[in-house]
Amino acid sequence: MGNGKIGKRFEGKVAIVTASTQGIGFEIARRLAFEGASVVISSRRQRNVDEAVEKLKAQGLEVLGIVCHVSNAQQRKNLVEKTIQKYGKIDVVVSNAAVNPSVDSILKTKESVLDKLWDINVKASVLLLQDVAPHLQKGSSVVLISSIEGYNPSSLLAMYGVTKTALLGLTKALAAEMAPDTRVNCVAPGFVPTHFADFLVTNEAIRKGVESKTLLNRLGTTEDMAAATAFLASDDASYITGEILVVAGGMPSRL
Ligand code: NAP
Repeated sequence: MGNGKIGKRFEGKVAIVTASTQGIGFEIARRLAFEGASVVISSRRQRNVDEAVEKLKAQGLEVLGIVCHVSNAQQRKNLVEKTIQKYGKIDVVVSNAAVNPSVDSILKTKESVLDKLWDINVKASVLLLQDVAPHLQKGSSVVLISSIEGYNPSSLLAMYGVTKTALLGLTKALAAEMAPDTRVNCVAPGFVPTHFADFLVTNEAIRKGVESKTLLNRLGTTEDMAAATAFLASDDASYITGEILVVAGGMPSRL
């Protein structure tokens, strides 16, 4: 303590957070900006980007908003170019975008859906990092957002869960590849009531069922996920790489 930086771990840092105009990504962006980062927020729709930028600027935070559908190569390149034009470097990347387009069992999932799951949930992170890598600073940090479902894919989220399992492996592989200058870690959220998981809001039986699977008897919050992500992205985690932090209220994951 006493270094005057408590609560301002990202002063002078530049962060990109994908899929950050609502939900977990928005709260991660807000947290990083609140702790001093210049944060580039993005998602598919201009209107959502504008609204999120307005909300964060109203809180006195330094943010830049850019439209970026993570599986659009041109928009990914534009995201990186505009970030460099405005801020000159990149210190933190949080890869947060994901879709779950179907609740079909794996053996019934159409090829087009399998492709979409792979493209957005896994491949887009790799392609974005390929574009970002030349601009990453020494001491930089990448955080991938996986899911508790990556450990035990459940029947209704099975193939989605498998893409989240892939991110656990990607974390290990990239941590080795990007060391020692860049750390790569992963957050595996439990269940958080967001638009993405609106079944938790609309279906009380499901919500109660999920709550009862946690040890802490509650759903997660976007703030819980933002706090864990900010920790891994910050210098507080400077000796941690290739790790997965499960933030799921004690839901079963692994030993
Ligand atoms: P959310 O509240 O529904 O927010 C999704 C955000 O992603 C929005 O800003 C949306 O804006 C953007 N988005 C959607 N598709 C995109 C794309 N292809 N490219 C760029 N941006 C896109 O979702 P969330 O619950 O926060 O989920 C965020 C992450 O947490 C995901 O990786 C999810 O798998 C993971 N997660 C969530 C839970 C949970 O219970 N909520 C649990 C475990 C893991 P636009 O519509 O403007 O694109």
